[in-house]
Amino acid sequence: MLRIILFGAPGAGKGTISGILEKKYNYKKISTGDLIRDEVRSNSIIGEKVRSVIDKGELVSDDIIIEIVKKRITSEYISEGYIMDGFPRTIIQAKELSKMVADREVAIYLKVEDEKVIINRLLSRVICNNCGAIFNAKNKPPKKEGICDICGGILEKRTDDNEGAIRERLRVYREITEPIINYYEDKGVLNRVDASISVREVLKKIGEILN
Ligand code: ADP
Ligand code: ZN
Repeated sequence: MLRIILFGAPGAGKGTISGILEKKYNYKKISTGDLIRDEVRSNSIIGEKVRSVIDKGELVSDDIIIEIVKKRITSEYISEGYIMDGFPRTIIQAKELSKMVADREVAIYLKVEDEKVIINRLLSRVICNNCGAIFNAKNKPPKKEGICDICGGILEKRTDDNEGAIRERLRVYREITEPIINYYEDKGVLNRVDASISVREVLKKIGEILN
């Protein structure tokens, strides 16, 4: 069973790429961002606790997020492999993840140097409130404005896709998350991919890495 870890700044394309890989390879996608937003949407106890944290662009505490991930990574749920999207984001999370089931591990760092590219992507992004599909008013518009191509759900802006929260997410990313890339480099499993180019090109590069 393979574990793929996708790294990258907010807006680097982790969600889009992991969604495509999930379908293409029959791997399970585990997006902690999606899981935590589900908690918020369902007004669960966890959801109530983390709502304002997410809206400010800060990290949810390690124990909450690790608990959520542990529930997902079970051999019953995962067959061929799984893709981590948005986890780990701290060294504590990285160490926890290394204890979870996997026979082989590949870390892929989706690299986008230019913050302007990131901010523009995030500001024009909309997400399906039903299936989580990602569209972009500029780069990848839906066929019908405001409606998901895949399931007909309603497309919404994420509450943390505003300039203030984006700046904070980028700061947290640079300060806390980016340094753990070294951890995977030292493990000898890190691959860097330029993610400022088209989704098609990025997928091609990832295909080569996985083969
Ligand atoms: P981004 O577009 O910033 O990569 P995600 O959808 O991955 O966003 O995550 C959205 C928010 O959910 C984060 O800003 C953070 O508050 C919370 N979150 C998601 N994954 C984690 C994690 N592994 N550790 C802590 N907080 C997380
Ligand atoms: Zn949808």
